[in-house]
Amino acid sequence: MRSGDPAINRNDASYRSRFTEIVDKHFTKETDHAYPALVSKVPVNGHRLWKPYDGGDYDKEQFDIVHGVRDQEHCSICDFKIRDEHTCWTNENRACLLCDECHDVFMPELTKHPKIQEYLEDYRHGDSQNAFYRLTTMSHDVLPDLITAFKKERDGRVRVFLVETIWQHRQQSVIPFLAECVFDPEPDIWKEALSGLVTLASPQAIDALRSARSRQFPRERDTDEYRSWIDEAIEQAEAELQKLKDDK
Ligand SMILES: [Zn+2]
Repeated sequence: MRSGDPAINRNDASYRSRFTEIVDKHFTKETDHAYPALVSKVPVNGHRLWKPYDGGDYDKEQFDIVHGVRDQEHCSICDFKIRDEHTCWTNENRACLLCDECHDVFMPELTKHPKIQEYLEDYRHGDSQNAFYRLTTMSHDVLPDLITAFKKERDGRVRVFLVETIWQHRQQSVIPFLAECVFDPEPDIWKEALSGLVTLASPQAIDALRSARSRQFPRERDTDEYRSWIDEAIEQAEAELQKLKDDK
């Protein structure tokens, strides 16, 4: 059952500041909020200590197992009381808890990355160095949004620039995206994607290059030329991969 009251105004400054203050914003959904815990028999400084019980051995002299313990009972933003039947969201060590309503309102704001468009504007106005630096030093969480920006972008020059910023994050997770770009009609795009796959130089990147060999162009000599680019990229990626192995 969903938790949280959809009717409250979450634009209210007090709610917003509570969200801003949450340091760890990586939340995962909890469907079974209550969990067993070990609770100390003797209070320390007036409080009973407790920790989540994972099923292993425990000191029966010191602890009791209690089922259905909750460290947090209320949404950290709107104070909605979470009950057993509710789903909710917690971050690491259950330090904070969000109701479904607060989660759905606040979390998309983090992934919208309005800065992407701002930096692309810098690029369009000739400040490519700053734009490149900004976009490649953002956290890797930005990658799905950079890929979305690429898909929406119409300016060919900006599209090439986006492919480069994406692979420069040097994350294996972008290989499927680069594998698609290798089939792009624009030579500048597929060449940029080749650079990325060569740099990533993993077995997965090499597989992506190999599958590009099947690409056919209407004119045979275009197919031949494309294939020679691909073959060279495969050779470079394999050499790079070998070097990485030797360095280990
Ligand atoms: Zn809430």
